[in-house]
Amino acid sequence: MRLEGKVAIVTGGAVGIGRAICERYAKEGAKVVVADIREDLAREVAAAIGGSAIGVGADVTKQASIDGLVAATIEKFGRIDILVNNAGIFTAAPLEEITHEQYARVFAVNVEGVLFTAQAVAKHMMARKGGGKIINLASQAGRRGEALVAVYCASKAAVISLTQSIALYLAPHGINVNAIAPGVVDTPQWDEVDAHFAKFEGRAIGEKKAMVGKAVPIGRMGVPEDMTGMALFLASSDSDYVTAQTYNVDGGNWMN
Ligand code: NAD
Repeated sequence: MRLEGKVAIVTGGAVGIGRAICERYAKEGAKVVVADIREDLAREVAAAIGGSAIGVGADVTKQASIDGLVAATIEKFGRIDILVNNAGIFTAAPLEEITHEQYARVFAVNVEGVLFTAQAVAKHMMARKGGGKIINLASQAGRRGEALVAVYCASKAAVISLTQSIALYLAPHGINVNAIAPGVVDTPQWDEVDAHFAKFEGRAIGEKKAMVGKAVPIGRMGVPEDMTGMALFLASSDSDYVTAQTYNVDGGNWMN
């Protein structure tokens, strides 16, 4: 029960990595807010978790929606101790085909969503003077480019940079800000990744997924639960002297 009594918001908490983090935090005693643009699914996941978990519809690209999420959490639980900025979307395209719309949408969710959700929650944490933990989902893609993935890679590089700057700003307030950089994790998002590569590299559906899994030194793709140990460490008091860092959780993939 390493998060007993703590209140945690997880954006994009309805499926994949976000859902696994919600489940793990709840098992460790946290009161969890499953926040997702898919409101019905967020509520279903909260009901499945049980206990004090609640589901809230929230679109991290809209300031009113972020403010509503913070207000709903404080109304229900009175405080916020942990924010996981997990909501993110993928895109891929050859350079000649990247559009302004594609770029704007990915940066709105992956970069503005992280920045302005952190801002709203940090305002509350600073005013409460009780410290806090903010954890951002970056990616291995934020550490190096990929030929077909320029926009997503750039957005995740921005997440790593925002993590550092926000961490330095909030350090005097006892608020730790760190990021997790997953490698390849079998989630609904990876089905989209696979479909993009099928289209642009002429592969069969499922082929890219099988390839990347074999290439991981540990010998398999990650599953969402593989991300939860690091997410728990960064949310718990064990990480009180850790800030501004981005941790690879990738089965050794980065070294490959
Ligand atoms: P996913 O696509 O499976 O789930 C993402 C969730 O975010 C969904 O429930 C979706 O409804 C929600 N969401 C999307 N837009 C939103 C918005 N505007 N507001 C609120 N919620 C929104 O993703 P995943 O694979 O579980 O990945 C979670 C995070 O980890 C993402 O930031 C992703 O980029 C990152 N990541 C994933 C992998 C991987 O291999 N799966 C690798 C590196 C990084």
